Amino acid sequence: MGINFCPCGSGQLFVDCCKDYVIGGAYPLDAETLIRSRHTAELLGCSTYIQDTWCPETYPGKDKVNMNCTQWTDMKIIDVFGGDDDIIVHVQKKYIENNCEHYVDKNLLIIRVGGKLMFYYSLE
Ligand SMILES: [Zn+2]
Repeated sequence: MGINFCPCGSGQLFVDCCKDYVIGGAYPLDAETLIRSRHTAELLGCSTYIQDTWCPETYPGKDKVNMNCTQWTDMKIIDVFGGDDDIIVHVQKKYIENNCEHYVDKNLLIIRVGGKLMFYYSLE
């Protein structure tokens, strides 16, 4: 893959950032890493990783997850708050449409399932 900087916007190289999670089989240990690596997986079209990190209770099914429906270009983590078992990550995602930049704010709820942090749903 011809990627240098990680698509999650961390400013790090892909090999030093999300690669181990998205295609390397490692599992993120904190909510921020989970959200960053899921963003990278969305941009790279890695639907398996999206499924693996999505709580089975709210996962809508493979054919209902629209990969690349929006061309996100950038993501900023604004805030992370909550406890050990449920965490909210406030992100701002950027996309470009008709040559204009648009920003979308989302509050992503992360819960702990069997010791693993998983995406639960987006509170928008
Ligand atoms: Zn990354």
